[in-house]
Amino acid sequence: MGQLIVQKYGGSSVADPEKIKNVARRVAESAAPDHRMVVVVSAMGKTTDGLLALAAAISSNPDPREMDMLLATGEQVTVGLLAMALQSLGRPACSFTGPQVGLYTDEVHTRARIKRITAERISAALDAGKIVVVAGFQGMTEQGDITTLGRGGSDLTGVAIAAALKADVCEIFTDVDGVYTADPNVVPDARKLARVSYDEMLEMASLGAKVLQSRSVEFAKKYGVSVHVRSTFKPDPGTLVTREDHSMEEAVVTGITHDRGQAKVSILRVPDRPGIAGQVSGGLGAQSIVVDMIVQNISRDGLTDISFTLPRVDRQRAERVLAGLAREIGAEGVVADDRVAKVSIVGVGMRSHAGVAARMFTTMSKEGINIQMISTSEIAVSCVIEDKYTELAVRALHDTFELGRERD
Ligand code: ADP
Ligand code: ASP
Ligand code: MG
Repeated sequence: MGQLIVQKYGGSSVADPEKIKNVARRVAESAAPDHRMVVVVSAMGKTTDGLLALAAAISSNPDPREMDMLLATGEQVTVGLLAMALQSLGRPACSFTGPQVGLYTDEVHTRARIKRITAERISAALDAGKIVVVAGFQGMTEQGDITTLGRGGSDLTGVAIAAALKADVCEIFTDVDGVYTADPNVVPDARKLARVSYDEMLEMASLGAKVLQSRSVEFAKKYGVSVHVRSTFKPDPGTLVTREDHSMEEAVVTGITHDRGQAKVSILRVPDRPGIAGQVSGGLGAQSIVVDMIVQNISRDGLTDISFTLPRVDRQRAERVLAGLAREIGAEGVVADDRVAKVSIVGVGMRSHAGVAARMFTTMSKEGINIQMISTSEIAVSCVIEDKYTELAVRALHDTFELGRERD
């Protein structure tokens, strides 16, 4: 009995016609006669960024429903082209959009959550012997409006379809050959991990390792889908993201991540009385701005400063909300800083080791890097620093925790 294989190819793997033909060859090679194949693809290259720029040229505050109508076009181009490329190789193939395969989501445009996948058309096309090509990143509401699943959302489409079809294999093909101890484009001696647990991958992904979208990891964990991250351009095995087990490496720190997509916004000299933090966070939440870190300083003369980090794309909206609130509650004003980055260390080994955070802070101070904010979880420690020191910080931490390749 053949296997049911779900493969996902990211934007850089399908950036131009030659690359799409290369993906078609790779798919055709994997598609042994008794295997059933579903291939999920992203928009070509930086198409999604281009579409976002187009929207920004038209409106400073675009309607999220219309944004999704626009963004979903990127993936539709790729599925059509990939199906044609497969057909040119003599392989029967058929492309579908997210709505066509019954990928239903909630109504939160631009970051919708998947509710269910009916997948009837996928099953029918597979039964007819076709290679099924599905547009990543998109779905539709129960009312039939197009939605998208957040940046990097094609990973989620791949994992969710693998879960819905109970696939035997879920492979995420990308421009690196696995998950590394740090972004290999920043740390040249980063090491490829053979296996990584869902919890560590989830933490790494949410702290900036964009090799997998964090929601896709959450979904994989929930439905027990083992995800194999590997290279589109090389045959080597990659990294298996799976349940934690004893054969995994026992390092205290597994990886270093960085996130440059953040901004810091502070509301200054806020009256220090009960309820203010709730009011401020509530005001941002009402605009669906997701706050990451929050720091409230010690109050002086009954006044205090509250700082937040949040996604840089939400910075202007957050400033508007907070400026209104500042007037209401009698705060002095609002300041924002885009030149920040978050650098983190991640590892399940931290649960049982003391002094890990201290080693991180000492490393930063040795490099003369000022730490602006700190946050911790059970398996991660993060520092907000000035953006320009990001690479220095990541490399220094990678050395401190001895994550580099063994040198011979
Ligand atoms: P795709 O277009 O295939 O979805 P992405 O650009 O979203 O690919 O993700 C792959 C990129 O993730 C790599 O090029 C790499 O720069 C980056 N990355 C960040 N952290 C890591 C890490 N720890 N391991 C591997 N890649 C990482
Ligand atoms: N094209 C979408 C994005 O750039 C989805 C994806 O590539 O996963 O975010
Ligand atoms: Mg991606």
